[in-house]
Amino acid sequence: MAHVKLHIPGPVEVSAKTFQALCSPMIGHRGQGFKDLYAKMQPQLQALLSTKQLVYLSTSSAWGVMEGAIRNLVAKKVLNGMNGAFSDKWLDVSKRCGKNAEGLQAPWGSPIRAEDVDKQLATGQFDALTLIHNETSTGTMSPLAEIAALKKKYPDVMFIVDAVSSMSAVPLKFDELGIDVLLAGTQKAFALPPGLALFVCSPAALAKAATMKDRGYYLDFVEFQKNAMEQMTPSTPSIPHIYALNAKLDEFFAEGLENRYARHVKTNQLTRDWAARHGFTLFPEKGFESITLTCVNNGAKPGGRAVDVAKLQKLVKDRGFLIDGGYGKIKGTTFRISNMGDETPESMNQLYAALDKAVSQL
Ligand SMILES: *Cc1c(COP(=O)(O)O)cnc(C)c1O
Repeated sequence: MAHVKLHIPGPVEVSAKTFQALCSPMIGHRGQGFKDLYAKMQPQLQALLSTKQLVYLSTSSAWGVMEGAIRNLVAKKVLNGMNGAFSDKWLDVSKRCGKNAEGLQAPWGSPIRAEDVDKQLATGQFDALTLIHNETSTGTMSPLAEIAALKKKYPDVMFIVDAVSSMSAVPLKFDELGIDVLLAGTQKAFALPPGLALFVCSPAALAKAATMKDRGYYLDFVEFQKNAMEQMTPSTPSIPHIYALNAKLDEFFAEGLENRYARHVKTNQLTRDWAARHGFTLFPEKGFESITLTCVNNGAKPGGRAVDVAKLQKLVKDRGFLIDGGYGKIKGTTFRISNMGDETPESMNQLYAALDKAVSQL
């Protein structure tokens, strides 16, 4: 069957080069070969996240670390920033971990705002905050730096940040932000297959985790630190993913991080231009649009032309590209186009050409 190229916001298209790296011969995870591999990657990972802390590799999807952060860091009560499907779910997950949790709700498409976070944290009820930097379900980016600045006012609150669909596509300076946990899964902007997550913790987060009972084993942050100091992971990791990550990091630095960030800005702008050309508006509040994906209104709002999203998706798929038909409660009234990973203006132009033809057939 012919491959349909992925332009959904995760998993994204994986290159042949990455698959080749994934198929490197197996090694043992307690041997020198693995330690050398992790040791080689560590400075690259630290440079990527602008941190002196060790970056950990978790064989799980992002949710593993998202749940792990709750279990390792919430003693009193967690405030879950909620403005889309993934962030809404984090409240549910916090409760399923048996924690006291409360949502800080913003409408879908709106960002989480620093002043609202400030107001809630000022109540003194919370010892942790979760925030999704780039809410993938709505294509909305929250002002991370502004929110992170609140950490100075609330040093005892653990700031846990999901950068699943922004890490490696936008600059994220962990030490400078001063937050406590930053995490991502690899199937979004890293353009690796799903199954690996990476994260970094502040010294304060590690100290807090060490005091927590019932944090389990598989996602025990203290175990990750102890093992990372020896260039290892607590349990047998997905070594193929780590080979692939290793190759990908070399690609990042060969391109240059600044070039990589600029490329994402450029390809995202092209998608916005494509939408505007067809009279479509974007779902997120102006000024908070994601730069790794574009969430487009189907036109049902006044002045727009409403299109059948399922039909559009099918017509584009027939031309070899998979776009997303909207997520959760905005399925069918929005569609999403990813420009994450390896995409270039040239590769995106092929998608827009297919989209143009599809739109003309609606
Ligand atoms: C995709 C995604 C997740 C969930 O990732 P899994 O790989 O399914 O665990 C979490 N947060 C955001 C922002 C995402 O885009």
